[in-house]
Amino acid sequence: MQYSEIMVRYGELSTKGKNRKDFIRQLGRNVKRSLHEFEGLEIRAQHDRLHVALNGVDSAPVIERLKGVFGIENFSPVIKLEKDFEAVKATALTMIQAQYKPGMTFKINTKRQDHHFEFDTNQINDKLGGHILRNIPGIDVKMKQPDITLRVEVRLNGIFLSSETIPGAGGLPVGTGGKAAMMISGGIDSPVAAYLGMKRGVKLDMVHFFSPPYTSEQALAKTKDLTSKIAGYAGSIQFVQVPFTKVQETIKEKVPEGYLMTIQRRMMLRITAAIALARGDKGVFTGESLGQVASQTLESMMAINDVTTMPVLRPLVSMDKTEIIRIAEQIDTYDLSILPFEDCCTIFTPPAPKTRPDLEKTRNFEKLIDVEGLMQEALDGITVTEIKPGENYMNQQEEVFAELL
Ligand code: ATP
Ligand code: MG
Repeated sequence: MQYSEIMVRYGELSTKGKNRKDFIRQLGRNVKRSLHEFEGLEIRAQHDRLHVALNGVDSAPVIERLKGVFGIENFSPVIKLEKDFEAVKATALTMIQAQYKPGMTFKINTKRQDHHFEFDTNQINDKLGGHILRNIPGIDVKMKQPDITLRVEVRLNGIFLSSETIPGAGGLPVGTGGKAAMMISGGIDSPVAAYLGMKRGVKLDMVHFFSPPYTSEQALAKTKDLTSKIAGYAGSIQFVQVPFTKVQETIKEKVPEGYLMTIQRRMMLRITAAIALARGDKGVFTGESLGQVASQTLESMMAINDVTTMPVLRPLVSMDKTEIIRIAEQIDTYDLSILPFEDCCTIFTPPAPKTRPDLEKTRNFEKLIDVEGLMQEALDGITVTEIKPGENYMNQQEEVFAELL
């Protein structure tokens, strides 16, 4: 069916006043960005709804894209007709036929803005209902919770028909919740945490620690590919890669084995907080979840969190691994995450890290390294890449290798 426009309904309707204006303006921008390559679309974000006029563009790929934009409650593809009632009858029938399966019920729901139109609301409901009943044998009318609701809006500039309501991604438009730094590894959890942060409207800068030659170019490329997978929710994402080899080697040399992990994590968080501060980010997100591994006990979090007063947000804190995996599959990051590349943290993780590190001991052991100097060296070595949806860094790597052979 060739639709004329897509009508988008806003989520979190409770937002009012200036917040509501920001919400609508940001959602308009985000929808425009996510649909940028479809030429001819017209996007208007109005007070109560957002309209995407298709101007002949195929609706199917546009619909797929809209499903991934946060801040949308649901949306409906709409057909606009001239005020010709015969055409309205024919189109209404085609739309219901397209969805009808034996045993289904329907109702017509008409709203009239144009009070000069030849029929009133009840007459339109009756005439269209009768036309459907006569032409689809077996279909029944049902007022409460019918299977199909055909919405008819008689406006001044035409008659608008819609029969489908497609669920949106919910959440808040990315950008309305400010900006934060996301600590992303190549694992399963952090991309899911990033997705959930963005769902609440937060724009994220990715911060990733890598340790060449202990970790490979492919491991780095994999994390960039993960970022690309979720960049669609934000338009694009800045990826900050931090060389971490020197920090890890120094810690390994100087610090007792039981505290290696805790002090590494403290350095990671310190560096991330410094990057966040410099970029105007107001918090740090991580993919930690309570009880999952040694570093994820409350004692451990206390010993690590000690290095910053910036809020550290952990969207996965109370989730089970199975719940996290389900979301990873849904956002299509799971298959990438489970590719077996070495991670900078696992390589330097001792066989038995302290699950309940002591805060005072941690602080004292850390005095064995030059915290400021190591931090500065790492910060001097960062590289920033802008990552867009649909990019593939791992394949690029393979091409480079192929050329070398
Ligand atoms: P993930 O699946 O996200 O790797 P995990 O369950 O493996 O998480 P850890 O490896 O202990 O747990 O990491 C906990 C969190 O620390 C990660 O979710 C991420 O936010 C951060 N983190 C770990 N490794 C890195 C890294 N190399 N660069 C940036 N952040 C990291
Ligand atoms: Mg990990």
